[in-house]
Amino acid sequence: MRACVAWNVFLANRDDRSHSSMTLCPARLEPTFSPRPWGSFSLGPFFPEMSKLAEQIGEAWMTGSDCRFAGGPFAGRKLGEAWPAMPPEWTGTLAKRGDSFPLLVKFIFSEDKLSVQVHPDDEYATRHERAAGGRGKTEMWYAVQSRPGAEVLVGLHADITLEKFKRAIADGTAEDCLLHVPLRAGDAVFVPAGTAHTIGAGLVLCEIQQHSDITYRVYDYNRRDAKGKARELHVEKALDVIRFGPQKGGKVDPVRVRRDSITKTYYAACPYFAAEKWEFGNRIETATSPEHFELLIFLEGRGTLQWGAERTEYGPAQVWMIPAALGEYHVAPDADASPGPASGTSLLRTYVPSDLAEYSHQLREQGVSEKESSRVIHP
Ligand SMILES: [Zn+2]
Repeated sequence: MRACVAWNVFLANRDDRSHSSMTLCPARLEPTFSPRPWGSFSLGPFFPEMSKLAEQIGEAWMTGSDCRFAGGPFAGRKLGEAWPAMPPEWTGTLAKRGDSFPLLVKFIFSEDKLSVQVHPDDEYATRHERAAGGRGKTEMWYAVQSRPGAEVLVGLHADITLEKFKRAIADGTAEDCLLHVPLRAGDAVFVPAGTAHTIGAGLVLCEIQQHSDITYRVYDYNRRDAKGKARELHVEKALDVIRFGPQKGGKVDPVRVRRDSITKTYYAACPYFAAEKWEFGNRIETATSPEHFELLIFLEGRGTLQWGAERTEYGPAQVWMIPAALGEYHVAPDADASPGPASGTSLLRTYVPSDLAEYSHQLREQGVSEKESSRVIHP
């Protein structure tokens, strides 16, 4: 019986040099939780153990640098430390080596609205934010839960100029310059770098983004923390990077493909990430690409991940890294995992696409027209 798939990996100039072979298996990451002034005192039922909290938690970081592996060859180690030491069989042959882990996945719990903000693109971040990692931030939100009337604000109205926006910031009406996007569970929003945005109250979002923590806040509703301190604003840099005139991104009109017993919903593909939802009630078979690792973000359902002769259990609100060279694997929902009709599994799958032309080709092979796929591909 083969335990896990083993690979001979030579790790020159690394402290992991002693590993002559490295196990390949799906590996779960433990979240870290961040307090935020707009966060929630309860993250249940998504994180049942996180109800009745002493402080407001706004973000669960699922693939932050400080998130530790719960199992596999990196068990107990932080993602930020493990990533540079991972062989190509884990990262994928096309992964950019040396940089920090490319994808940041978070769950956002907004009890109140977030600040009005913007993120720079790679070019600006490289020039002005080297100390902070030099990486811009394009992001996507998937609405996991939404209270009636919940919304996000994304992009500026067409008639908002730099001068008008400056005035609005000065008199505390910056919010009025943004476009309202009502959100229901299952909706997704694409937010390219340079797009002014904020998240409204009453949402649980899964955020998939470039691994960067550079945020320029332009307005924070004059909020004060417990010590009476306001959060820092970064108006000048924000005005440098905000896109005026025609806007990009916004609410996604996804592409849905139903085949056999699985429904795949494609939300967005850009040079930084591709994101899709898989919904299924019975065991599915899939395979990794040797070019890139993938992340599975389980939203609903319990079951087992199966590869080779191995298996492990998954559940909701878990994020698993699937190594690039794992090859074929199965995701098998438990037949009686939850009472009621919805006993299947739904997950978000995200990865760094090798090439968007290839991505478009893969959609075409599933019967998606070029016109349809152009709705979700952002070169
Ligand atoms: Zn943001």
